[in-house]
Amino acid sequence: MPAPLADRLRRLIAGGGPIPLAQYMALANAHYYATRDPLGAAGDFITAPEISQMFGELIGLWCADLWSRSGAGEVAWVELGPGRGTLAADALRAMRKAGLSPHVHLVETSPALSERQCAAVPDAIHHDSVATLPADRPLLIVANEFFDALPVRQLVRTPDGAWRERMVTLDGERFAATVGEQRFDAVIPEALREADTIETAPAATGILRELAARIAAQGGALLAIDYGYEGPRAGDTLQALRAHRFADPFDAPGEQDLTAHVDFAALAEAARAEGAVAHPLVAQGALLDALGIAARTAALARAAPDRAAEIAAARDRLVAPDQMGSLFKALALTAPGWPTPAGFEKGTA
Ligand code: SAH
Repeated sequence: MPAPLADRLRRLIAGGGPIPLAQYMALANAHYYATRDPLGAAGDFITAPEISQMFGELIGLWCADLWSRSGAGEVAWVELGPGRGTLAADALRAMRKAGLSPHVHLVETSPALSERQCAAVPDAIHHDSVATLPADRPLLIVANEFFDALPVRQLVRTPDGAWRERMVTLDGERFAATVGEQRFDAVIPEALREADTIETAPAATGILRELAARIAAQGGALLAIDYGYEGPRAGDTLQALRAHRFADPFDAPGEQDLTAHVDFAALAEAARAEGAVAHPLVAQGALLDALGIAARTAALARAAPDRAAEIAAARDRLVAPDQMGSLFKALALTAPGWPTPAGFEKGTA
């Protein structure tokens, strides 16, 4: 067993001074995902594919429909941060029924979760990063609750009016937020000058840029579903979840899930800069409705009448505006010349 992450971080800060928040979040989440399966009732949080098989199935149909209308031949199906592999298994079942049997490529850094994904999707090829994905065919890429786990950088306005980077330091044995000495006033957009905190996600933007460039060059599409907003917007959205409750992000690094809301406008802009088409954002509820979740709910309930109430409750959880339906949003990218994906005919988020 390696030394607990908290001890390693304490030594790092004691020796070299405060570290940027993004570095803290990256190290904490790398340790967190590498050492456990965080999903489900016994874990820290639950995600849409774990709520109902309908989620992955409808995403699979979205992929198959787009593929058939695009006229593309062989494609590779890619998932980023596949968790337990549940979405991939459900989506592949639906895609195969619709005539699409692609090679499967999973991008995952956690050894613990890769093992679970191999069990759920036996033929999948694993990648540590998007750099090694196939370059010779269109890519159909899916990412659910992946971008929110990537590290964010925060700039904060200090009482003297200067903008400085949020750093993590030690207060005795405990971790605490502080600010760095360097001033960042010159990079603050005019519209956000009066704000307190500005958050950016350099790792998320970097990965998205790379994938958008691939899609523009090779063909294909990307569907990213996550909780988030359309920036520019000010504010600190860093949050920690432990055993399904919010916790202090500076407590127990590596032992709880750290996430931040996704700035979809920043991702869409990065994608357009690389030549991909970014479609207007659609709320998760509206997307699943457009893809036929009502009919799928009815079919599943007919096949298992004793579970009808449970199936309807899962549907509500995914689409109701006061549950996941509005907070979660879907961003779709396509290669120039590819058809508009199902559910994205007009943005409704
Ligand atoms: N998509 C799954 C799991 C979401 S949790 C679901 O919806 O249930 C986030 C996932 O992203 C985990 O599988 C985690 O190990 C993976 N992950 C986190 N940071 C990553 C990174 N930098 N590169 C690749 N995978 C990462």
